[in-house]
This record gives sequence, C-alpha cells and structure tokens, in this order.
Amino acid sequence: MLSVIEAQERILRAVAPLAVEMVSLQFALGRILAKDSVCPLDLPPFNNSGMDGYAVLAEDTVGASEANPVKLKVLGTVAAGDWWIDPLRAGQALRIMTGALIPPGADAVVMVEKTRPSADIVEILQQAKSGQNIRPKGEDVPQGKTVIREGTRLRAAEVGLLASMGFASVPVHGQPRVAVISTGDELVEVDQPLPPGKIRDSNSYAVGAATQRAGALLHSRHHVEDDPEALRSCLESLLPQVDMILTTGGVSVGDFDVVKAVVGDLGDINFWKVAMKPGKPLVFADLRGKPMFGLPGNPVSSLVTFELFVRPTLLKMQGTRNLQRPAVTTMVMQECRSSEQREEFVRARTIYENGQYQSRLCGDQGSGRLSSLVEANSLLVIPAEVTRVPAGALVTAIMTDWEE
Ligand code: AMP
Ligand code: MG
Repeated sequence: MLSVIEAQERILRAVAPLAVEMVSLQFALGRILAKDSVCPLDLPPFNNSGMDGYAVLAEDTVGASEANPVKLKVLGTVAAGDWWIDPLRAGQALRIMTGALIPPGADAVVMVEKTRPSADIVEILQQAKSGQNIRPKGEDVPQGKTVIREGTRLRAAEVGLLASMGFASVPVHGQPRVAVISTGDELVEVDQPLPPGKIRDSNSYAVGAATQRAGALLHSRHHVEDDPEALRSCLESLLPQVDMILTTGGVSVGDFDVVKAVVGDLGDINFWKVAMKPGKPLVFADLRGKPMFGLPGNPVSSLVTFELFVRPTLLKMQGTRNLQRPAVTTMVMQECRSSEQREEFVRARTIYENGQYQSRLCGDQGSGRLSSLVEANSLLVIPAEVTRVPAGALVTAIMTDWEE
C-alpha cells in the first residue's frame, strides 16, 4: 500500500498549473500571480514631504532654536497634488503638506510643531538636516525591481502595490472548477425530511466548502445513488465542464461500492488505497485528462483526505508555490493510541500556552464523528510504526486552521 507521502508525490506529478488568464485588479484578491511583477516606475514617483510643515533650505536653518529662531519668508503653500515650479532661494520657505512634491531648491522639511508662523513669515525653531522629512523618489520600490514573485497569492498589500504600479489587470493562474458528487442510497438533500434509515448528505457541502477554501471554484454539487449507470452518466456529463471531479463514498469493499468500478471503466486508476487512518480507501484517477478523487464516505475521512491530497492538488493547479500547511512541534496532553500499521492523523486542538504548543485530542476519533472536526484546528501526525504516544510526548501538528 502507498504511504501518504508516496501518494502525494504521485498525485502532484500527475497535475500541472492551469492556463494563465488576465483578471481585473479589483477581482485579483486571493488569486495566484502568474508572472513576476517588475516595477515600471519609481515609488514614490517623486521626492515628497513626509510631514506637514515648511520646505526650507537646510543651510538657512543653521543654529536655529527656540531662543534663537531663524526667520524665513513664506512664498505660499504646496498641497499634496500641487506642482510648485519656482526654485526656493535663500531666506525663503514654503508651507508644505504631507505627500506634496518637494519644490526645487528645498532640501528639508521642518515639521509644523517646530515652527512659529506669523503673517508671511515663519520662525524656524530647530536646525534642519539636509533630507530631513523628505521621502525620496524610489525609496519604497525603485524602477525595475521585481516586487511580487510569480506563484504569490495576492493579499491586500499586493493588490495595493499592483495599483501603485499602474496595473489595472494582472496575469493569474486559472482557478480549478470542481464538481462534487456524493454517492449513496442513504442520502437525502439538506432541505428534505428524513425517512427511517436515511441521513442528510453533508459531504457534498463540506467537501464543496473545503474546495472553495482552497481557492478553487465549486462548479456544482450532485447526489447519485449507488447505481453504476447513474454515476457513469453523471461523470460523463460533468467531465467537459470541469477541471476536477470529487466523489465521496462508495470506494470501500461494500456490496454497493460502485465508484472504483465505474472510474476504472471510464479512465485510469492511479491508486485506490493509502496506508493512513482515517481514510484508507481513496481513489485517484485520470478521467479523460482530468484528475478525479474518490474520497471515502465517512465525513471525517472525506475531509481529512481532502486536506492531505486534494488541497495540495488544487493549490498546484492554481500555480501556488507553497503547497504545505504550517506545521509545529507540539506536546500531546493525553496518551494517544494508534493500533494499526497505518500513519494516523489525529484530530486535535493545538494552542500556544506557557511557551510551547500543546495539543488536546478532540475526543473519540471515530471517522463518522464530524463534530470532532468542528473542535479541531490541527491534525497530529502519528507515524505508521508508532502504536502509543504517551502524554507529554512531542509530535508534529499540521495546522489546518492556523488563525482560528
Ligand atoms: P461509504 O464509503 O459509502 O461506505 O460510506 C461510509 C459511511 O459514510 C457510511 O456511514 C455513509 O452513510 C457515510 N456517508 C457516505 N456519504 C455521505 C455523505 N455524503 N454525507 C454524510 N455521510 C455519508
Ligand atoms: Mg456508500
């Protein structure tokens, strides 16, 4: 059986980033930049005032103090956005506002708190150094510098910088369109009453939500019964419209587990088992050039296998450079048993307390217990050969929800 890492490597070898598209800057948040962004101008584009105050010639202010102010003649006011053309000469000053272009001749700005204005004269109360309170042209980003690398997910700061550089639209990698299909005769849609023996389909919602959180587009959700023909026609009609198909359920060895058979018929199965818990049965296939995952039906297994396999795949298809969640070394606060020869991913709540990370298990680890994932913010990784982790031992936690 493949290990988790072997399965991940196989999957990532099989998928490539989607084609590049241009997107208007206002819709670029969260998208992955597809080309290095080189600054076409100096930022800021001109020397400007860092303060409200007076633009002066520094040498005019030599020796200035409260007791011994230097008097300068004020020629006028330069507001942000103004363009003052006449050079400033010895003995002159200009009232100037933050962000305003430094007038020719001036080489310092004295903050307003260090001045005493009266009519068209200003008294300077402190000696100024050349360059003081001036933000020089290009100090933020010089022209020609590569400021944002290809593969970066655009946040508010990147979007702002792209605007400063004058990019109304930017090249980004495509977002995978993903269809999610729940399989199972026992499932009813969320707004339907529950007859005996039935449960609501939660996987198509949970897996659909995880898809969106990974930056992909949820194309559609579907439910098919455990019927090979129904599944086959659903897959065939969706394939031309999407970049990836996810199914849940029907991949184990129960009598009604149809996914493996239908997918094997329609495409090529890469693998169908991974040595992990939860989630041993897991189909990865190529359906007419599109990646397809058959996730297990148990709600926890479907989300954990999504986390470990589907999320990195969707990130790679979006062109993201970093496919990994952050991980920390943490102390388990309770004994943790793991009986099987499979790598185990234990739901836990990990917090930073008393100078170290500490993890508490989220109760019984049954793979049907979706509520345990509601409490969890991390998965503790228990290697295949380990069967018991004593309280107080250190393990690795994958932080699935770092911020919450
Ligand atoms: P299966 O993998 O189809 O054998 O399903 C394993 C378990 O997960 C069974 O208890 C199913 O009822 C449950 N299950 C399967 N699909 C879903 C779903 N879409 N929503 C909630 N539970 C499901
Ligand atoms: Mg089933």
